[in-house]
Amino acid sequence: MVGPARVRAIGTPIRGKARPIHSRLIAGCGGLMPLMEPISVLVTVSGRDRPGVTAALFTSLAAHDVDVLDVEQVVIRDRLILGVVLDLRGDPASLRRSIGNTCSALGMEHEVVIVDGTSAEPASLRTGKLHVIVLGHPLRPGSIADVTQRIADVGGNIESVTQLSVYPVASLDMIVGQADEERLRAALARAATDTGLDIAVERAGLARRAKRLVVLDVDSTLVQGEGIDELADLAGVGDQVAAITKAAMGGELDFNESLRARVALLAGLGVPAVESVRDSLQLTPGARTLVRTLKRLGYAVGVVSGGFTALTDRFVADLDLDFAAANVLEVADGVLTGRVIGEVVDRAGKAEALRRFAVQFGVPLAQTVAIGDGANDIDMLRTAGLGIAFNAKPALRESAEVAVNTPFLDAVLYVLGISRSEIEAADLAEESRTLV
Ligand SMILES: [Mg+2]
Repeated sequence: MVGPARVRAIGTPIRGKARPIHSRLIAGCGGLMPLMEPISVLVTVSGRDRPGVTAALFTSLAAHDVDVLDVEQVVIRDRLILGVVLDLRGDPASLRRSIGNTCSALGMEHEVVIVDGTSAEPASLRTGKLHVIVLGHPLRPGSIADVTQRIADVGGNIESVTQLSVYPVASLDMIVGQADEERLRAALARAATDTGLDIAVERAGLARRAKRLVVLDVDSTLVQGEGIDELADLAGVGDQVAAITKAAMGGELDFNESLRARVALLAGLGVPAVESVRDSLQLTPGARTLVRTLKRLGYAVGVVSGGFTALTDRFVADLDLDFAAANVLEVADGVLTGRVIGEVVDRAGKAEALRRFAVQFGVPLAQTVAIGDGANDIDMLRTAGLGIAFNAKPALRESAEVAVNTPFLDAVLYVLGISRSEIEAADLAEESRTLV
């Protein structure tokens, strides 16, 4: 298993607000004396990782008059890179000797350089920055070169790169500073088309982590294929219904009208046939992982479908979903009448359902996520705080904020910044609880 790898551009000057230099005064026998102005020093230590390296470095630093301004440490496989920015009052040569002695005892390489004293910005200050999530299978150097060059072309500076997953798709989370959001989005939309990668741009900060409710479309999103097409095949009207479905999902036909027309063609189909379709529907790969992980994180998760409750209710129970909305097929004497009961859940109805569930669960719309594939998902995805087009039809893909084009639904977790190792750790923790 590959552990979380974090690479930060250690040694690259971090531009930020000028930091006031401490001007401490001490009482001397002749009155108040100014202390020496501190100088900023970047210490970089690298080599084979093992317990105690960080402790040994900081123990050697403790013998000097230094303040710690920034620390970044990453481990890739068994290699450690540790960077520390210090304000030093005193002799840099003496600090160099201490660090040199410590590192040679540890068998580590090191570098101590004096850096721009006004540039230090704590790593925790991420405001105004953007996350660029890149998903690919596989991720090739040429594609990464393309993406990173376009970030540079719009003036963006990549401050850190974290690997989120290698399976079932490879994904990276880059934190980019100094970039204009709109220009970066436009540049990376072109990069996504040219490289075939999925690329999402999201603002850093609390809002990104505060997503609390996720709505999934069902047909061709949570489950594979279109349930109504399966029903139509059994009713012997497959070709007619498929033609209407295609036109509706492509946005060429009003969904409400098309749904009533298709349901009318199903009149006379028996309930056992509907149940056999329900039982044959397959979840999209990664659907269980997505729902399980989101629920563990405390998200409210549900479905809003332009399909039918007779097909979706099974998944609501199976996945322990928190809410669901779909169309209700009318049944009389054990067969479908060809009518829908109540209001049709159409394009506007899906967005309305999202608003309703957000209110019900007390979640602001900005903290909602909607995932879908069809033209009837456009309003719902636009209404949500984050709209994700999943292997979407062109009509939706063009208007969606984020597109995911891998066949794995759990890739959505990476877009939300959740790493594979976190998902697997949660699964292991659950298993050990179950065993106890
Ligand atoms: Mg769909």
